[in-house]
Amino acid sequence: MFEQIIIKQREFFRTHKTKDLGFRKHKLEQLKKLIQKNEELLYEAIAKDFGKSRFDTYTTEVSFVLKDIDFYLKNLKRFAGPRNAGTNLVNQIATSRIYSEPLGNVLVIGAWNYPYQLSLSPMVAALAAGNTCIVKPSEIAANTMSLMARLINEEFAEDYLYVAEGGVEETTEILSHKFDKIFFTGSTRVGKIVYEAAAKHLTPVTLELGGKSPAIVTASADFDIAAKRIVWGKFLNAGQTCVAPDYILVDEKVKDKFLEYLRNYITQFEYGPHAEHYTRIINLRNFERLTAMIDAEKIYHGGKTNAEDLYIEPTILTSVNWNDKVMQEEIFGPILPVLTYQYYREAINMVLEQEKPLAAYLFTNEKDEKELFTSLLSFGGGCINDVIMHLSNDNLPFGGVGNSGMGNYHGKYGFDTFSHQKAVMGRVTWGEPNLKYPPYTEDKLKW
Ligand code: NAD
Repeated sequence: MFEQIIIKQREFFRTHKTKDLGFRKHKLEQLKKLIQKNEELLYEAIAKDFGKSRFDTYTTEVSFVLKDIDFYLKNLKRFAGPRNAGTNLVNQIATSRIYSEPLGNVLVIGAWNYPYQLSLSPMVAALAAGNTCIVKPSEIAANTMSLMARLINEEFAEDYLYVAEGGVEETTEILSHKFDKIFFTGSTRVGKIVYEAAAKHLTPVTLELGGKSPAIVTASADFDIAAKRIVWGKFLNAGQTCVAPDYILVDEKVKDKFLEYLRNYITQFEYGPHAEHYTRIINLRNFERLTAMIDAEKIYHGGKTNAEDLYIEPTILTSVNWNDKVMQEEIFGPILPVLTYQYYREAINMVLEQEKPLAAYLFTNEKDEKELFTSLLSFGGGCINDVIMHLSNDNLPFGGVGNSGMGNYHGKYGFDTFSHQKAVMGRVTWGEPNLKYPPYTEDKLKW
């Protein structure tokens, strides 16, 4: 079904047109205009998909992608290089250079929870780096997927950029073809399928996956700011955020006090059933998966649900243990289990026993605790005294480790993810040392 488009993209890449920086700039500007012109449609489609508010869509999706386009427009020349490198003594006299070259025909597969950002942001990096691109957004956010397909496929030639619509069947077909790079965002389960398909063609992959990201709150934390930031980060997009704090590990001594702060902020932020700024659950399947995690006996706050509206109230569970359903898989919804620890090292050990998470967060004012957090725990990225915001800093690479993924993007890292670093050394043609050439006579061996 998609074979002809993939072949056309391969042929177009071979014309070398995408290597021209003027061409890339023009395409990025064209994309920027397309997004700006259709901003209202973007808001409407995502609201239909899962009731995401205009404000959230602007801050976490539209402005995010526009910022990426501006960033690459500004830095394209510098990133594309070439860059000079030093030359070691044995190769003197020579010039050594690194050329960032596009990989070729790339495939971007997106997830539904930030449908624009997760499909378009890697796509922008791929185009900036000079590739052709096929984007397959998630079919679960059906309205945003078809809108992206309609807008982009009408605006751009399919031999350069194409949005493929479809679910498992279509993605399986696409994955059977050869690409020069696959960039996947989604679950660890599907990440393994993608990795396997890519291996058949020796295609490099970036896998942006998920996991259970902890937030540790110690006795020395500023509870007010910790609760405010955790509540915001957890219930943004109704918890359907890959780097949302999945669960809290709080020092047993301060648990009750901290829970009150959490409850206060949930109330203050007004996430009631009629709140327009509170996103709904993406579909009934996920709604049922999530409600099954709510153990009525462990509800500290919340627990109200409405299947018709796909609404789940921000819910805090206490007295949770590792055997509870809610601790068996990534929650990906507005349920926040709170677990306790007695000693800080116990909290660290609990996290170490789990798969490496995509994010980890620590709230503390103790220097030693900060140091142990960064030196002992392995996680994709994270924050001390905040949540989520590390991903908005383009100077930092964004990606997972172990079960939460491989590779990274954002800012310069995104450009490099879709580039090959080609090393070239240019030698002078004089001053040749005879030593390196055979025959290796006694005289030479004395050296
Ligand atoms: P998913 O893995 O179900 O789907 C992701 C993509 O894979 C979709 O485009 C889908 O069509 C495709 N897909 C699904 N099943 C497939 C199959 N059998 N073969 C081939 N393709 C298939 O993930 P999701 O539900 O869209 O997103 C939720 C997950 O993504 C969570 O685990 C979350 O943590 C993770 N996530 C990670 C990031 C990140 O940046 N690391 C961002 C958002 C979401």
